[in-house]
Amino acid sequence: MAQETEIAEDETQVQPDQPVEETVEETADEVVEEEPKEEPRKVLPGDLIGTSEEFIPRNGAYLEGGNIYAAASGIVNINKKDRAISVTPVTNTPPHLQVGDIVIGQVTDVKDSVALVEIAGIKGKGEREIVNAEQAAIHVSNVKDAYVKDLYYEFAPFDIVKARVLDLRNMRLSTVNKELGVMKAYCGNCRTVLKVDNGKLKCPKCERTETRKLSSDYGTGII
Ligand code: ZN
Repeated sequence: MAQETEIAEDETQVQPDQPVEETVEETADEVVEEEPKEEPRKVLPGDLIGTSEEFIPRNGAYLEGGNIYAAASGIVNINKKDRAISVTPVTNTPPHLQVGDIVIGQVTDVKDSVALVEIAGIKGKGEREIVNAEQAAIHVSNVKDAYVKDLYYEFAPFDIVKARVLDLRNMRLSTVNKELGVMKAYCGNCRTVLKVDNGKLKCPKCERTETRKLSSDYGTGII
C-alpha cells in the first residue's frame, strides 16, 4: 500500500517516465516472491517464520499463539520431510566454533601480552573451509606449560598456528600442548619458511635462527 501511494505521488510530479518504471518494479517484485523458498532467509529474533499448521518449531524457533517466531538472529532452515523449521544463529564467531575446538589460523600481530590470530579453519569441520575471519588472541599465560619470558620469542606475524579454543566470548586460544603451537613460520629476515634443525628453527636460505612455541607437527601440514 505504501508503494502505491509513493508511485501515485511521483506520477503527479514526473508523468512521462513513471508508468514505465512502475511496470519494471512490479515485474521484479513478482520474480523475487517466487524465489525465497530456496534462498537463505535472514531473520531477527521475534520475526514470524511460520505457523504451527505448517511447521514444527525446532532449534532457534518458538511457538506462540499458533505462530512460529525466530528466537535468534540467523538463517531459517526448513526440513520439508519432518516439517521442521529452525533458525541457525549467525553471530560474530565463526559458524559452529565451540570451546575445545582445535583451530588453525595466522598470527597477525604480537604484543607484550597477547598474540593476535585470525582463525582460518576448524579441525574436523573442513580444514579447507574458511570460516568468516575472526580475530582471536593467545594470552601470554596460555602459550605453554612453562614461564614465557617474552612473547616475541614464541610467535611472530605470519606464523601459522594450531590452537585450542578456550572461550568464545573473548575468543581466547591456547597453545598449551605438545601438538599445539606454530605449524609454519617465516624467516624474519628473508621470509623463507623456517626449518626445524636440532629443535631450533633455522632459515635454509640466510641461516638465521629463530625461536617459537613449536607444535610437534611443525612443517608436517597436519592439522
Ligand atoms: Zn632467512
